[in-house]
Amino acid sequence: MFGEDVTPATTVLGPGDDADVAIVGGVHGDEPSGVRAVRQVIESNPDLQRPVKLVVANPPAVASHRRYLDADMNRVFPGDPDSGARERRLAAALLAEIDDCGPVLSIHSTHSFDDPIAFVSRSYPPVQELAARLPIPHIVDPTPCIEGSLPTAAPVISIEAGRQLTEEATENATGIVEAFLRLVDVLPEEPTGGDSTYYTVTDAVSQPSGPDYELLVENFERVSEGSTVAQSATEEYVADEPFVPILMSETGYDDLLGYRGETAGESLSAARDTWGVDRPSDG
Ligand SMILES: [Zn+2]
Repeated sequence: MFGEDVTPATTVLGPGDDADVAIVGGVHGDEPSGVRAVRQVIESNPDLQRPVKLVVANPPAVASHRRYLDADMNRVFPGDPDSGARERRLAAALLAEIDDCGPVLSIHSTHSFDDPIAFVSRSYPPVQELAARLPIPHIVDPTPCIEGSLPTAAPVISIEAGRQLTEEATENATGIVEAFLRLVDVLPEEPTGGDSTYYTVTDAVSQPSGPDYELLVENFERVSEGSTVAQSATEEYVADEPFVPILMSETGYDDLLGYRGETAGESLSAARDTWGVDRPSDG
């Protein structure tokens, strides 16, 4: 109902309550690995050095195990506090909740890929530098194409931890949450990791028509011109130019096959040359 009071659920842990670091789970209600990972890390690390804010972004969707109720929350940022769509109100409330936080980690899981992927916008260079030090093999800039996602609206590292509802996704998420909390001094010790390839999303690809289709390529493995990317009984999608598949799947979206992208570089500085982003003079 319009006007119904729904807000993100926030807990602050650690010494003090002035948290400027946040971890967000449950932007999509059917991806529980984020919330689970945060719980595991907190239970196994009771001695936090700084306060950290834990936010469940979409409690009604989490409670009903659905991706969303009215609108895909990760496509409607910055949201609208007066909207009739619940996720648009929640999106605005989430941005207000993390407004005083610097680095924010948001955790998802996918239908498309086993290994962790990070989405960070080139618009937030210091956050991108943090992401470069996490144990994540693929780091993607969604800015040119995926409008309304959280990492395009705030200084957020948005993680796809692995396949939805798998133990591996929760394990990956747990390792990334721990590494993130070390980087921002909530946990002691320096993290390990930081050997990533960088990509840019260039455009979205519609699903082939027909009830079922088959995906014939692997995400992050470059597709050459003329290759068949996906086929249904009635339609074939053939690559008209080379590209890198990103978040392509048979079941992940209502209407999209996924995204096409390009490699931006094998290091952050090489990627920044590709993007035309100057290296910031301080962190
Ligand atoms: Zn998600």
